Amino acid sequence: MRIQMSLEKQSYDILLDHKAILQLPYEIKNIYKGQKVFIVTDENVYKFYANTLKSLLAEFNVSFVVVAPGEQAKSLAIYESVIDTLMEQDMKRSDLLIAFGGGVIGDLVGFVASTMYRGVPYIQIPTTLLAQVDSSVGGKTAINSHKGKNMIGTFYQPKLVIIDPDFLRTLPNFEYKNGMAEVIKSAYIGDVVLQEKLFKGQIKTLEMIERAILVKRNVVLKDEFDLNERMFLNFGHTFGHALEKQSNYEIAHGFAVAEGMLMAVHIGEKLGITPKHIQKDLRMILEKYDLGLLKSDPVTLIDDVFYDKKNTHGELKMIFITDIGKPVIQPVSKEALYECYHSQAS
Ligand code: NAD
Ligand code: ZN
Repeated sequence: MRIQMSLEKQSYDILLDHKAILQLPYEIKNIYKGQKVFIVTDENVYKFYANTLKSLLAEFNVSFVVVAPGEQAKSLAIYESVIDTLMEQDMKRSDLLIAFGGGVIGDLVGFVASTMYRGVPYIQIPTTLLAQVDSSVGGKTAINSHKGKNMIGTFYQPKLVIIDPDFLRTLPNFEYKNGMAEVIKSAYIGDVVLQEKLFKGQIKTLEMIERAILVKRNVVLKDEFDLNERMFLNFGHTFGHALEKQSNYEIAHGFAVAEGMLMAVHIGEKLGITPKHIQKDLRMILEKYDLGLLKSDPVTLIDDVFYDKKNTHGELKMIFITDIGKPVIQPVSKEALYECYHSQAS
C-alpha cells in the first residue's frame, strides 16, 4: 500500500508492504533519472542485506558507505567522514542517496542529505521497527552534539520511504520491543482500534505498522515543523527522556518511554485529566509486550526534568490523554507533580 505524505511544499509516498523492497528499482526510476546510487548503512544491516541490495540494483552503479552500528554514528566526526567518503566516491549534487538501516542511519543520512551540496535527493529504507513506525516518517534529521542528543539537525523530507516488515525478521528481540513502545504510544495518542487490537494481542505486524504510521503522519501533516500538534508525539517522552539520561542511556529509549507513559497517565489521573481505567490497560499492554516495569524514582525524575527546563518559568508543558486517542498539552508546575507522588515522596 501507499501512504501519501502531502506536505505544503512537497509530496511523496511511503510504500509499505511485505517484500516492498523488491519495488526499489522501479521506484528509483520513477523519481531519479541517473545511474549512480549511494547507499549508507551500518555494519549489521550491511552484513544481512548487502547482497540482496546489490543484486536488486544490479542495473545501477551502486556504492556503499558502511558505518559502525550504534548511536555514536550520529556524531559530527562520523557525519564528516560519511560526507568525505561520498565526495571521494565522486557523488554529485543530483545523485541519489539511500538511508538503509535503523533510526540512527535514518537520522544521520537524512542530515547528510539535507546539508551536502545544500541538499541531495534521498530515500529512506528503515529496517528497525522503531524506524519503520517513527523515525523514517516526518522528515526530522539529526546528529548529536556534546551538549545533547539531536541538537544538530534539519527538517528535510525524503523523496520516498520504503517500509518492508520482512526486514524485522533479523531484528534482535530487544530492538523489536524498543520499537513496540512507540507503537503503543501511537495507539494511545491516536488510534483506539490499534489500542484494542494490541490489548487483545490480535494484530498482524503489517497492520500494526500501518496504523502507527498513520497516527504519526496525521500529526506531522498538521504540524510539519513541530510548533503545536507534533508535540503529541512526545507522550511519555518527558519523563522517558529524563529516565534515559538518568540511567546514562543504559535504559533504552522504548523502555524509558514505556515508564514515561505510565507516569503521564498516573499524573493525568491525579490531576483529573485522564480517566481511571486507562492506567490498568496500559500496564497490561506494556507487560504483554515485555516493556514493564522499571524501578524508577518519580521524584528525582521530576527534579531532573525541571533542572533541564530552567527557562520554562516554573511550568512544564506535558502531554496527557483525556481518553485513548485523545491527547492534550497542559502546563504543570513542579509542585503539582510532586503532589501526584505525595505518598511515595513522604
Ligand atoms: P539503531 O538504528 O541503532 O538500530 C538498532 C540496532 O539494530 C543497531 O544495532 C542496528 O545495526 C540493528 N539493526 C537495524 N536493522 C536491523 C535488521 N533489520 N536486522 C538486524 N539488525 C538490525 O536504532 P533505532 O532504535 O532504529 O533508532 C534510534 C535512533 O532513532 C535514535 O538516534 C533516535 O534519536 C532516532 N529517532 C529519530 C526520530 C525522528 O523523528 N527522526 C524519531 C525517533 C527516534
Ligand atoms: Zn520516542
